[in-house]
Amino acid sequence: MSTRIGSVTLVGGGPGDPDLLTVAGVRALSEADIVLYDRLAPHETLAAMAPRAELVDVGKRPGHHPIPQEEIQRMMVAAALDGANVVRLKGGDPFVFGRGGEEVEACRSAGIPVVVVPGVTSAISVPAAAGIPVTHRNTSRMFTVVSGHAPLSPAELEHLAGLGGTIVILMGITNLPSITAGLLRFGMAPAMPVAVIEQGYSARQRTTFGELTTILTESVQARVASPAVVIIGEVVSLARGGDTDASAVLVDAAAVAGS
Ligand code: SAH
Repeated sequence: MSTRIGSVTLVGGGPGDPDLLTVAGVRALSEADIVLYDRLAPHETLAAMAPRAELVDVGKRPGHHPIPQEEIQRMMVAAALDGANVVRLKGGDPFVFGRGGEEVEACRSAGIPVVVVPGVTSAISVPAAAGIPVTHRNTSRMFTVVSGHAPLSPAELEHLAGLGGTIVILMGITNLPSITAGLLRFGMAPAMPVAVIEQGYSARQRTTFGELTTILTESVQARVASPAVVIIGEVVSLARGGDTDASAVLVDAAAVAGS
């Protein structure tokens, strides 16, 4: 039995492209003894990024829970108590609808040192992959990130409709009908632009455009499916039109940064 206690590093893996991992995240992976990774975390290149580590897929699919959250936490704590450097690799940022807070608490109550490496959240980066900025001078000076996992209350819908800024919804495909109906009921403009971006930063990235009154029909026709980010607001009309290849966006960004 090991006498040295290990540690846990919660790493925000970004929206899926390994290029969008942070330098701290890459370093943590390279030093890991075990990596517990999620479905939406960048996992295709994990074997190269974490060469010493045992790789454990704890991914959850909507409606299916192969490994319950409590069990993931138990595995994480057990490995660290056994002396391992554990990396818990999560999609996007660990603290944006990622249950990262619960995992930090589980480590603290077991007396395990825990570090959180923030990640690039899909809430901002996936719209960007489709060419949509969440804020834009004179167009939107705020953005609100909402979980659509459970239905929104009338009070929440009323406040959202009244904000006058960009609304970004994660896990929002199932409840899209009630969300759009609610925003219309509370006075949002029927012609408000909406985009649904599926599988951001993958070869299968696809954007479906519409308006508040048409996006449902468009989404059904296009058979949109999770994972997808829904973005509602005038900023959607700033997309350069059609779908933009995510890797091209990264190349564009690099060119701008270098110029
Ligand atoms: N912590 C994550 C979000 C976890 S909730 C973050 O900060 O990004 C999971 C939801 O995130 C998905 O249902 C989807 O709405 C969104 N999402 C994450 N990655 C995505 C991707 N590559 N493309 C589209 N949506 C994504």
